[in-house]
Amino acid sequence: MRFETKAIHAGRQVDPVTGAVTTPLHLSTTYERSADGSYTDGFMYSRGDNPNRRSLEECLTALEEGYDSVTFASGMAAISAVIESLPQDMPQRIILPDDMYFGVLTLLNETDIGRRFDIVTADMSNIEDLKAAVKSEPTGLIWIETPSNPQIKIIDIAAVVSIAKEAGAVTVVDNTTATPVLQNPLSLGADFSLHSVTKYIGGHSDLLLGAVVAKEDSPMLQNLRTWQHAKGAVPSSFDCWLALRGVQTLSARMSVHCSGAKIIADFLNQHDKVEAVYYPGLLKHPGHDIAASQMSDFGGLMSFKVKGKAEAALKVANTVKIFTQATSLGGTHSYIEHRASVEKELTKAPDTLLRLSVGLENVQDLQEDLAQALSGI
Ligand code: PLP
Repeated sequence: MRFETKAIHAGRQVDPVTGAVTTPLHLSTTYERSADGSYTDGFMYSRGDNPNRRSLEECLTALEEGYDSVTFASGMAAISAVIESLPQDMPQRIILPDDMYFGVLTLLNETDIGRRFDIVTADMSNIEDLKAAVKSEPTGLIWIETPSNPQIKIIDIAAVVSIAKEAGAVTVVDNTTATPVLQNPLSLGADFSLHSVTKYIGGHSDLLLGAVVAKEDSPMLQNLRTWQHAKGAVPSSFDCWLALRGVQTLSARMSVHCSGAKIIADFLNQHDKVEAVYYPGLLKHPGHDIAASQMSDFGGLMSFKVKGKAEAALKVANTVKIFTQATSLGGTHSYIEHRASVEKELTKAPDTLLRLSVGLENVQDLQEDLAQALSGI
């Protein structure tokens, strides 16, 4: 089956009891045990496993062409589970990219999890920088986020995987901004592909969920599965059901996100109040060629810097009418966000930078909205 077909059929079937075409929502937390002690359908208690979660995990495994998936209550729960699941017999050293989702830095800087690991950052868009970081000490895990949030840097997944393999390190790709439609990290050799399902896969800004898809069986995957039910940061059945509903239109939605983003990026790129546009679909983006080789399209997320000072950027964010000034990405609505004021002291985002998540509205309306907001600075 091809992607679009799997997105609708993988992990699901017509309900054998009622003939319902859409997957029923199962809210029961517990399942009946037979006289012989077995559980007829393999479900015992919903934290351990349940029909909606199993369907979603099977679907995501099929979409990422992996071996198995483990879902969590949020993207951050998935991220912390992956980091904590690094086997003890591997070097407890993690290399992170220099631009990545800010929540990971908060996790590692402000909780005990970070103190248990030696954390190093490298500019992975410069492979020599990564090679030097790997050579200096034994490394257990290399984290990749591409395109990165919010500076939209591009990392060559296959090149990082080859460095990691030589060093015996595990590679994890946060594939949230690319989605499994546009980029398949496991086929490029990565060990795990991770998603904030909250974003494009859910697609409607109405659920919170995270997922990790493994390329193959491993002690780390077993740790993740145990972490899921033993620590219990599991997604609700309803969120799994919503994610399964959302994923069916993922491919169709991504076509509109990508075509709209391309038009907006070209518009901003020619605007005299805009200093720089970060979108991998632009030929002048330093990661354009790599993005073109490892992605089938360039996504719906971009950032741009306005000319002038932070106040000018804030004024644009405050005067748009169709874009909503809100955090997050990947929903039907378009969002604009001044990341520096959200991320505060630890931010690496320039203070004139605005991040856009281009939604599914008419792109002419979006362009006119940005034009009117930019005309005010
Ligand atoms: N990864 C990326 C790239 C994100 O943008 C986010 C959230 O913005 C996360 C992970 C965390 O996901 P969640 O908000 O579902 O915990």
